[in-house]
Amino acid sequence: MGIFSHRIASLLTKHGKEAVMTPDLLALTGCDVKHTDAYDTDQLGTFTREIPRHGTQLDAARKKALMGMKLLNTDLGIANEGAFVGDPYTGMLPWNNEVVMLIDQLHQIEIIGFSGAPAQSASGYFSHWEELEAFAETALFPSHHLVIKPTDEHHPESIKGIYDLSALQEAFQWAIAQSSTGVAFVENDLRAFANPTRMENIHKATVDLANKMNSACPQCQTPGYWVKDIQRGLPCNACGLPTEQAIAKIWGCLKCTHQETEGMKVLQFADPSKCSYCNP
Ligand SMILES: [Zn+2]
Ligand SMILES: [Zn+2]
Repeated sequence: MGIFSHRIASLLTKHGKEAVMTPDLLALTGCDVKHTDAYDTDQLGTFTREIPRHGTQLDAARKKALMGMKLLNTDLGIANEGAFVGDPYTGMLPWNNEVVMLIDQLHQIEIIGFSGAPAQSASGYFSHWEELEAFAETALFPSHHLVIKPTDEHHPESIKGIYDLSALQEAFQWAIAQSSTGVAFVENDLRAFANPTRMENIHKATVDLANKMNSACPQCQTPGYWVKDIQRGLPCNACGLPTEQAIAKIWGCLKCTHQETEGMKVLQFADPSKCSYCNP
């Protein structure tokens, strides 16, 4: 018996996310998911810039979760919100952060599943069909759908969800005809059902959430007991001074003050290359 066995969570999405969220939540936590698409979540923000998202990624996930709970009258709600940013290492490559939030009114908590991974998010400006055809291949079309706009990314009109070559050709002709510069803007469609790379990342964030849902505080039994902080200062192997390398994980409860420190089992010393004294 899991903590969430036999409870029912609402999930508001119109982009097919239930396919990668529902089965694992049920299998891993025993929590059943009821899906609704009774509200158009695009009204809360689109990746194609027509409607900007208000607030943070977590704010948006929370809003969707609460809406789903209201629509289906549940005390448990799950929602996903994605963001596309530069990668955390160089900032140069497209990166996708997915949040899957659980709101539990019974325990009065929020648990947040997370996954960050490389994104399939390419774009370009095209005036010749041959160039667009070559781009489409590098953008993993047609498994990943495309969006096209006349002139540039700010044009109010677009054709979304393009997934076959003849439709792309037709859309390109339309965009060029509408364009004030003879150029069309084309990008990957980032909606979940149109972007399998993103869908897989939503799946990973859901598994992360399920693992956290199953972890209860040893003190008060509240679910969501997880790593809260990383302690740094692993000593350098050569000089012994503390480095920025992690030395321990701090586990903490969402409700009470209970916490535990888990030392790193693998490494006792940091490589001198990570030391700001030995390798400034
Ligand atoms: Zn606790
Ligand atoms: Zn050192």
